[in-house]
Amino acid sequence: MLQAARQGGAGVLGSLLTHWQQHAAREVVRCQCGQRMSSHGRRGKRLLTTLGTVPFARSLYQCEQCHQSRFPDDQRLDIINTTYSPGVRRLMARAGSQTDFEQAADDLRCYAGLKIEPREIERIAEEVGRQVEHWLGDEQVQILRRSTPLCPVLETDAKLYISFDGTGVPVRSNELVGRRGRQADGSARTRETKLGCVFTQVGLDKEGYPQRDPDSTTYVGAIESSALFGWRMYAEALRRGLSQAKTVIVLTDGARYNRTIVQTHFPDATHIVDLFHAYEHLTTLAQLRWGPETKAPKAWRDWLEAGKIDRLVRQAGKQLPTCAKSKKSALKELRYFQNNAAQMRYAEFREANLFVGSGVVEAGCRTVIGERLKQSGMRWSVRGANAIIALRCCILSGRFEDFWAARAH
Ligand SMILES: [Zn+2]
Repeated sequence: MLQAARQGGAGVLGSLLTHWQQHAAREVVRCQCGQRMSSHGRRGKRLLTTLGTVPFARSLYQCEQCHQSRFPDDQRLDIINTTYSPGVRRLMARAGSQTDFEQAADDLRCYAGLKIEPREIERIAEEVGRQVEHWLGDEQVQILRRSTPLCPVLETDAKLYISFDGTGVPVRSNELVGRRGRQADGSARTRETKLGCVFTQVGLDKEGYPQRDPDSTTYVGAIESSALFGWRMYAEALRRGLSQAKTVIVLTDGARYNRTIVQTHFPDATHIVDLFHAYEHLTTLAQLRWGPETKAPKAWRDWLEAGKIDRLVRQAGKQLPTCAKSKKSALKELRYFQNNAAQMRYAEFREANLFVGSGVVEAGCRTVIGERLKQSGMRWSVRGANAIIALRCCILSGRFEDFWAARAH
């Protein structure tokens, strides 16, 4: 019955398209060179739609001067150089962004009755991903040019959080030429993807802990330099209401390039270094001194939680390991605390009911990036990975329909 309904629907759609094609108001079609193009009859193509295949004959226009040809009907229907309707491309892109392309082909056959090769899903998902990248890129330029938000989006009391982190994505060997990595032989297998998120805090939960506005999280990400990523993050924060927010918090792991991004783009925000990262560094420091099984002394942990970093550094500095190599590493850890002292005033941050952990962006690294791009056996091109990352960020930020709506204009 479903198949019959689809076939019937495809027949109706075909008739509608023919009627539309024959009766739509004709405008003058101009070539890029400015010359008026003339009609040269119709050319047919078979369009795969969500109802099935529909034949479609559209008008061909040609320029007498430079012999360019165009299909204005294709332009209006958003089917230039493709035999997949926007509806089918939307399904292909979504399916291909969720799972590997073989699985996506199975899903589409099962859910939508569409028989499409995995390679085609890969091609279209990456193409749509690149279109999403362009759409977001254009938006970013506009936002940065105006340096005001597009529309008021923030509740008056909402606290705006900006958080970012990196995670490695396995890439093909030609993407790694000249890059040093963490493999035993100094080679690399992955490229760092930077992921950022923006969310708002509405208040406190019953137990008095800060509570995230459940649907407020949006993501941006790419394999790109930290300078470019800084601008991407900044534009997203502006879009989300950075300039209206009374309280802005940036949560990072305290790595140097993250501090640079904060200093460049969010100088007025409260910068907090993730407490759990700080804990890890404290444990490393203790283990350098007392061996691999040790925990950091209770006093150290208490000073850290209290944000008494000067005191922590002073005391830990008195107990440096004797071996030169460990001592060097320990001094590096101490510098981490010294450099981030102002971002570790945890008692004060807690008093102000702020989040002190970057759990949201870390979960994002797993769900947005890891679950799709870091499955076993995967090797990405940077271009392909960035397209899929753009797609996933767009979908998980709840903006995929906005993207298609923008294309329909
Ligand atoms: Zn021309």
